[in-house]
Amino acid sequence: MADVQNYRIYINGEWTGESLEPIEVTNPATGEVIATVPRGGRSEAEQAVQAAYDAFKSWSSKTAGERSELLMKWSRLIDEHKEEIGELMTREQGKPLKEAIGEVDYANGFVSWYAEEAKRVYGETIPASHPNKRILVQKQPVGVVAAITPWNFPAAMITRKIGPALAAGCTAVVKPAEQTPLTALKLAELAEEAGIPKGVLNVITGKSREIGEAWQKDSRVRKLTFTGSTEVGKILMKGAADTVKKISLELGGHAPFIVMDDADLDKAVQNVVASKFRNAGQTCICTNRVYVHESIVEPFTEKLTAAVEKLKVGNGLEEGTDIGPLINEEAIEKVQEHIEDATQKGGKLATGGKRIDSGQGTFFEPTVLTDVSDDMLCMNEETFGPLMPVTTFKDEAEVIQRANNTPYGLAAYVFTENIGRAIRISEGLEYGIVGLNDGLPSVPQAPFGGFKESGLGREGGHYGIEEFLEVKYVSIAL
Ligand code: ADP
Repeated sequence: MADVQNYRIYINGEWTGESLEPIEVTNPATGEVIATVPRGGRSEAEQAVQAAYDAFKSWSSKTAGERSELLMKWSRLIDEHKEEIGELMTREQGKPLKEAIGEVDYANGFVSWYAEEAKRVYGETIPASHPNKRILVQKQPVGVVAAITPWNFPAAMITRKIGPALAAGCTAVVKPAEQTPLTALKLAELAEEAGIPKGVLNVITGKSREIGEAWQKDSRVRKLTFTGSTEVGKILMKGAADTVKKISLELGGHAPFIVMDDADLDKAVQNVVASKFRNAGQTCICTNRVYVHESIVEPFTEKLTAAVEKLKVGNGLEEGTDIGPLINEEAIEKVQEHIEDATQKGGKLATGGKRIDSGQGTFFEPTVLTDVSDDMLCMNEETFGPLMPVTTFKDEAEVIQRANNTPYGLAAYVFTENIGRAIRISEGLEYGIVGLNDGLPSVPQAPFGGFKESGLGREGGHYGIEEFLEVKYVSIAL
């Protein structure tokens, strides 16, 4: 408890909130309180919007080159501090340090990519049908952006929103998840150091529902961008309706991972392990269901079990750790519930299945279940933990139908060496992202987002900046 640091929130270029009640931030690997952050509410939410609103005029009037230069400075500072940010992230979130530093690089990719993209917000002229008219199309920033982010990627979920928002000329108010606010506050500190003007980026912590409601109701907030559960996404979507805000939602997923009989088995195993166990299975594009062609299920499961048994679970700060703790006790309970349900319905444990009782922290064994059927909870609900259910299929049409039989549509994976099949299956999948022989598809330059109840809008690439731009058509009569 000795070095618990009391953090402050960042509004209008000031570090404030010291008089607010503290929220404790704990290290999931040890259960220790490592810091506190202020429990902000409506008042802080409104102050932050006011600051962002006031800053919008001058920020949006800067040239794209000026905004780009400041974002590049921020990016350079993030790069210089990546070990420090990575360590902070591991302490508040749990993921292994190498993954945390990898996330900082990925997160920073959005800042540098959009610093470049700021200069490419092109408009258009359209040939008019009338000889004395000209049609000019301009893109303009939407205004104040509110961003609400989850705990599983404490840096990347912020920069994926704030990089394009600031590049487009918007200003922003951000509320990170209560479990992982420290990475967010560190990013804000570096933005300040980079010279991003006061009010352009504001980061507050606190009562999520109250802050969310204040931002939903505020007509000065013109865009709401959220990553998190489908349940909260629906609440925000309804709330945004009253003031007809633009909205982007990146919600839950239930990714199928399909292994055809002609797949390269070693490649498929290596990728499914990376896809499933990265961040201890706590990502929205994590594999949730593995469909293996019935003719290869035995060699596949054998190789898979051997690979999973090599994974080392432990404190993310320790060298050689592959899987850190889960975020909290509820996360452990959910994995246990899914395993109990599956084993009661005939599922068999190939490896794992239990909590690791080390006396501290929320660790769970990486688990593989076989003899799985489609009625099990784990085949329908996001486990958000290190549990991999494996089932079999007979043919292409069947597996596409079963893979699509979910309200979600974020990521899906297909492993095959047959090009015709690869194209047929990827076209048949109702998913926003398809990893074709690729278990790790997330990159800053590609559009990330889901079909169906997995969300609205896209983050990343040139698609991502469009979400923060309005289209203005100027009709000119000569
Ligand atoms: P998760 O299951 O990943 O924690 P949530 O959707 O609960 O997903 O949380 C994602 C983010 O949404 C967090 O920052 C959380 O504080 C915030 N949040 C949760 N409930 C609400 C709400 N009712 N209104 C606004 N934000 C919310």
